[in-house]
Amino acid sequence: MKKISILGSTGSIGTQTLEVVRNHQDLRVTALAAGRNVRMLEAQIREFRPHTAALWDEKDAQDLRVRVQDLDVEVVSGMDGLIRVCTDPESSMTVTAIVGMIGILPTIEAIRAGKDIALANKETLVTAGHLIMPMAEEYGVKILPVDSEHSAIFQSLNGEKRSRIEKILLTCSGGPLRGYTASQLEDVTPEIALRHPNWSMGRKITIDSATLVNKGLEVMEARWLFGVDADRIRVLVHPQSILHSAVQFEDGAVIGQMGVPDMKLPIQYALFWPDRRWMDTKRLDLASIGALTFEEPDTETFRGLALAYRAMRQGGTMPTVFNAANECAVAKFLNHEIGFTRIWQIIEESMDAHTPAADPSVEEILEAERQTRGRIG
Ligand code: NDP
Repeated sequence: MKKISILGSTGSIGTQTLEVVRNHQDLRVTALAAGRNVRMLEAQIREFRPHTAALWDEKDAQDLRVRVQDLDVEVVSGMDGLIRVCTDPESSMTVTAIVGMIGILPTIEAIRAGKDIALANKETLVTAGHLIMPMAEEYGVKILPVDSEHSAIFQSLNGEKRSRIEKILLTCSGGPLRGYTASQLEDVTPEIALRHPNWSMGRKITIDSATLVNKGLEVMEARWLFGVDADRIRVLVHPQSILHSAVQFEDGAVIGQMGVPDMKLPIQYALFWPDRRWMDTKRLDLASIGALTFEEPDTETFRGLALAYRAMRQGGTMPTVFNAANECAVAKFLNHEIGFTRIWQIIEESMDAHTPAADPSVEEILEAERQTRGRIG
């Protein structure tokens, strides 16, 4: 029996992780954490019977305590609650499916407690990869990627030496606005940007996919996960989302992973690695797809990727500023407070206003985040 805890169980990755759990008798959930969705967490507690559950706000937690008083579950709240869930003594793995930089501290504590990490929360590696990766090594825990591209790279590296990697080929659907001109982008509303052609994901990451910020975050994530410099990570637009990413080795061989777009596959792979299990998902029929196409990303119109490379080159606290500014700007866009193209401007202005500190501690990372959020307002 493998026991896991989940941070962000009510979100897109969290609910799909629970679908995987539902399909496997030898997986059990011992602790769950969510943000504000009291009703969904209550339903999850009733179905999966964890012994600990956390909500961010103490008022919501109190509401949940009343709702589940007939069950044997302890309800906790705040950052302490998140840490309780991901360091749960019974579980051996934490799935970090929470959104945003709030994932950093719980992930660090989970590593300290010796839990393997099934990592979806890319913001953690983007901002604190220089702390997380050496720490994982020190505590002997595995960081298993859940992001479909990184899972594909991880699967392509099976049995291969990382020192033989020449390039990582990171694929990208191009998002819901691929092909839009700069002037067309001026009129994009949240409703339009949320219509992703291939993937059904949380709202924030869907907007990040439209701006190419998500691909920028993924380049940073890949850099830490696979120890490859950013200039050896090539982004390729592949609108069909069938090749989930690939590795080019130094003999010229390219090994990639293909499949229909379904996040349950990389989630299940991370949960059972190094095993591969049967999965009830659509099979890839290459003949009916006919053609797979690839093109260069339009980084002049969609500026998220270029800004991410700049943040990576500057390093230190700059990726934190890139990420925090993006989180604020996307929230404002989703709230109809700003237009679509203003997202990139806010990121760029925040980066221009920041002098990066090299090799930042967690406190310096969180301070850079606070300052960036404060500046944007
Ligand atoms: P969602 O917005 O769908 O879900 C986010 C989850 O985080 C929800 O369960 C939410 O709880 C929870 N949460 C938010 N704030 C807090 C908080 N303060 N305390 C506790 N829980 C909180 O996001 P996604 O599932 O789309 O993405 C999660 C992460 O995975 C992101 O880092 C994303 O980049 C990454 N990812 C997502 C993919 C996808 O296909 N969706 C693919 C690859 C990576 P509640 O809803 O209850 O408020």
